[in-house]
Amino acid sequence: MNIRANLLTLKRSIPPTCTLVAVTKTHPAEVVKEAYDAGHRVFGENKVQELVPKYEALPKDIQWHIIGHLQSNKVRHIAPFVTLIHSIDSIKLLEEVNKQAVKVKRTIPVLLQVHIAKEETKFGFSDEEIMSFAGSIKPSVFTNVEVHGLMGMATFTDNADQVRAEFRKLKTLFSKLRSSSLPNTFRLKELSMGMSGDYRIAIEEGSTMIRVGSAIFGTRSYK
Ligand SMILES: *Cc1c(COP(=O)(O)O)cnc(C)c1O
Repeated sequence: MNIRANLLTLKRSIPPTCTLVAVTKTHPAEVVKEAYDAGHRVFGENKVQELVPKYEALPKDIQWHIIGHLQSNKVRHIAPFVTLIHSIDSIKLLEEVNKQAVKVKRTIPVLLQVHIAKEETKFGFSDEEIMSFAGSIKPSVFTNVEVHGLMGMATFTDNADQVRAEFRKLKTLFSKLRSSSLPNTFRLKELSMGMSGDYRIAIEEGSTMIRVGSAIFGTRSYK
């Protein structure tokens, strides 16, 4: 795998306004360092226990994103340094993030995860839930979090039309939220959608942030 070449080719092929989150889960810190040395600074991990040792081992100007399902009892380990949490999938989790952010005197940016795929196993809110609870994320309660946008994962399928329809649905929800009156906890700007297999479609459908792993680092082996 030529990580540098993969990164540069990928970056050249996406709009400059789209953020590339390089997903390094299962890969050791040395692999992250290779991407770092090629100039990349934004990385995504889906497990706290994998993220923390990499954070400790690697340069501190890396922006670390958590992209996978996050358990409330793990939030305190990442609160001091995490740049963006993509995977807020319950109010309880958002409350915990706020609580830990207060403790470390930070404001933590988050995305709300929306369930757009057909698969049942994927976490996230439904459209209806998002619309109904968005108004209740009040700055008086959620003093130390900021909602920067939405995140979604399309169904894992070769059916490009279906993937496109799911991304389009998320974009529509995003636009609807942006045009509604929301508490000051919201600074909606990011639409995190698109992975190695579907980021091109996601960008066509309005993604501002893609999360790409295997297209840069090769296939993962889970031990
Ligand atoms: C692993 C993962 C990715 C990246 O997947 P690839 O197919 O390797 O690009 C993106 N988003 C989430 C939430 C992931 O867990």
